[in-house]
Order: sequence, then structure tokens, then C-alpha cells
Amino acid sequence: MSPSSEPAVRALLLRGGRVAGPSGTAVRDLLVVGAHVLTVDADLPDVHLPGVPVTEVDLRGRLVLPALVDQHSHPTGGGGGGGPHTQNLPILFEQYTTAGIGAVVGCLGHDTVVRTHEALLARVRALRAQGLSAYLFTGEIGHPPATLTGDLRRDLTLFTEVRGVKAAVGEVGAVGTVDELHRLAGAVARGSRTGGKPPALHLHLGADPRGAALVGRAVADGLLPAAMVTITHVNWNPEVLAAATDLARTGVHVDVTACILPEYFPGAVPPHRAVAELLDRVPVEQITVTSDAGGSHPHEGALVPHRPVLLLDVLRRCLAERVAAPHLLGAVFAGNAARRLGLTGVGVVTPGARADLLVVDESGREPISLVLGGRFVVEAGIPLVTDPIGGGPAPEPMEAVS
Ligand SMILES: [Zn+2]
Repeated sequence: MSPSSEPAVRALLLRGGRVAGPSGTAVRDLLVVGAHVLTVDADLPDVHLPGVPVTEVDLRGRLVLPALVDQHSHPTGGGGGGGPHTQNLPILFEQYTTAGIGAVVGCLGHDTVVRTHEALLARVRALRAQGLSAYLFTGEIGHPPATLTGDLRRDLTLFTEVRGVKAAVGEVGAVGTVDELHRLAGAVARGSRTGGKPPALHLHLGADPRGAALVGRAVADGLLPAAMVTITHVNWNPEVLAAATDLARTGVHVDVTACILPEYFPGAVPPHRAVAELLDRVPVEQITVTSDAGGSHPHEGALVPHRPVLLLDVLRRCLAERVAAPHLLGAVFAGNAARRLGLTGVGVVTPGARADLLVVDESGREPISLVLGGRFVVEAGIPLVTDPIGGGPAPEPMEAVS
């Protein structure tokens, strides 16, 4: 079929999967037309749409979750904190999709000299053109922060792709006083208001629990709104996790990092265990998990890259060990971050939402499939769309994210 005779709209009828909706999981048929979910129904009749080819797919025995929303990743490649030879390669589109990720928020890591927000924005736009819902945080670990325009408020106001500000506590050169946190909170609040987005301050915690204590003091005196804050890397060690849990009780959001594994960072709390502990103690809507992909750590003279698939590994462990019901895991791995950052239409499986769907099995062992914008981009673990910068075959054009 020549491109000119391609139908403008396609439909998918996904039959019989266990669909994790906002309030529970049930066997449902899903009708996807174009890029969006049209209907979620217990038993849809055969569908005939004039001029629209409908592909029917049997998902019996499979679980359908919202595609994962990863709000901390380094798509340009992070690293660089150990010298130029520790900079990492960019993350390819298919490295995200084969990890079940449909939306990603990129940020800069330790190196903000060679790695810039301009390069990050360009990479985000490249991923969007391929069909991933890609965004970024302005700001950085250091303080005062590097930005796109020289000003956090201008970045938040002028770029829809910028969904919040990254900063850090408990790191060398990071925010170090309650006063600095207050000023940062003011910039986030004002820039988000003029940018028309929820205020989001994404705070990297170092492994020293005094970082969390500083956040606690700033929240306690009333000038850092708890609801604005997400603290990430809460599973560095049991002390940081305990401090983060206390902070969560004040309303702060807590984010578990998939690459902080005991085998990578001795003393770390395994991410799936951290999720389980937090679910016991913190309202589910305050909990997220992110990959932190794009960084690396040295091991026996080599660098071990942190891949997006580490996030999927945590989800698989949570499913296999029944850490929570699938619809709650859908919230923790997708819906919560999307709602928090005002990413409308992603992170949920409901009529009208973008058809970004992760098909997985409840044992967590089988290869995944992923639908993005109404098209399968991964089938049984095999990527169907590959990133041109990876040297693969030229991709079929995707409907770019608007
Ligand atoms: Zn990171």
C-alpha cells in the first residue's frame, strides 16, 4: 500500500485483558481509535467503523496497565561526575519503549557544563517526534542552578515541555540552607503559575539523611509547601528511607529510584522493598518510582550503565511479589507522576486518554508489549520502532506528541 492510500485513522480492538483502571482491575475490551482510547467495556460487540481498519488483538490472560511515566531520567546521557570518560551515551527511543515507558521527564545530572538544558530540550523534542511523551525539568543539582533562559521562572513560563524544577539537598554545591529552599520554592510557585502548570520541585536527596532534615525544617516553617515537593532517591539506605517516610507524612511526595540497587550501591534498600514499605505507611498517591536511567557507576574499572529497563524490573518484582493490586501499581508507576506534573491524558487507562498501554503478565516474567498513541511500538519484547540515532532502519513516522 502506498503512503498516499494509507488510511488516516486506524483502530485497535484489544480483547479480554485485565485492565488496571483508576479504581480497580477487571477483564475489559478496549477500543482504541487513532491515538486515544474510545471505549473501555466489559464485552464490546464487533466493531465496524467506515473507512477505518480495525485490528483485533487477543489479550486474554494479560494485564493492561498505563504505559509507565518515568519522571527522572537522563535522555542525553548523564554521568560525567567522575571526569569526561564517565559521560554516558544518549538513551534511545526503543530503550524507553522496551522498558514499558510511554512518558519521560528528562533532567541533567552531575555535569551541567558539557550537558546543557538546550541539548536536553532538543533530545526531548526528538523523542516527542518519535511518539514518546517527553518533557524536562529545568534546574540541576548545583545551586544557583543552570537553566535554559537564565531564569527558572522564564523556563517554566515559556516552555510547555518544562514541567518543574530539579534541585538537590545533601550534595556538594547544592542548596544548603532553609533560606535558599524558600527562594527556590518562590520561583517554582510563581513560574508555574505563569506557565499554567502544577508547581513541582523535584529534589534529589544525597545519601546523607541531613538533606531530608533540611527539607523538613523548610516545610515546618511554612514557606516550602509540602505538596510542591517530590524527594527522589529515597532508597539510598534505611535511614534516608525512614526520614523520607516522615517527610511524606507532612505531604511531601516520595520517589523510589530503580537504579539504586544494593548490588550497585551497597546499603541501598531494594526498590521493590522500598515501594512495599512506603505503601504500608504513606498514601499511595504520594508514591512514585523512576528509572534514573542514563547514569552509571564504576565497577572493576568499567562503567555499568543504568538502563530504563531497571524501572520495568521493579514493576515486575512488585507484580510477582504482589506488593499491591495492579491498579495501585499503575498509580505508583504511571498515574501519580502524570497527575502531579499536569500531564493530561497519560498515566491512566480511561476513555479519552491517550492510548499509551503496557501489556504485561501478572507473573512479571513474560516479554512486554507497548502501545503508544494507538500503535504497537513493542510486541513481545521486540521494538517495532527504532531510533534513527541508534543506526537502526529508518522508523515509520509516528504521530508526534502535541
Ligand atoms: Zn538522576
